[in-house]
Amino acid sequence: MSVKRVLTVRQVLMGRLQRGDDLLMSLTEVCKAQGITLGQVRAIGAVEQAVFGSYDQQSWQYIFLTVDRPLELLSLIGNISQRDGDTVIHAHVVMSDEECNTCGGHLAEGTRVFACEYVIEEFFGSDLQRARDEQTGLPLWKG
Ligand code: ZN
Repeated sequence: MSVKRVLTVRQVLMGRLQRGDDLLMSLTEVCKAQGITLGQVRAIGAVEQAVFGSYDQQSWQYIFLTVDRPLELLSLIGNISQRDGDTVIHAHVVMSDEECNTCGGHLAEGTRVFACEYVIEEFFGSDLQRARDEQTGLPLWKG
């Protein structure tokens, strides 16, 4: 069964994180501090260290990679919804190294900001709730 919402934008926040912040945790904290439970987030900048991964569709587990060197944050795009009563951001990133080689994946905690400018859009509407999906093992939107 598909899940969808028709939404309108309530407000748009623009801001930046501080050097040393955890990218995923800090963006989540911004949402919680503003009471944003439904929306989307985009960001650009640079990181000192990155942790991202991909979902193994056979084992139903994330495989994470830590890149312990400076990378340019070319693009972060994600959504804001609810899981077990908590606000969560599901974000994917594309990054590049000093030779402009790109890498990326599902953003995890442990990505340390060098500089980051973000835009968060809050939506009007009923929250989307995440719950474990039996076909994928992922915590997907259930309604
Ligand atoms: Zn993902």
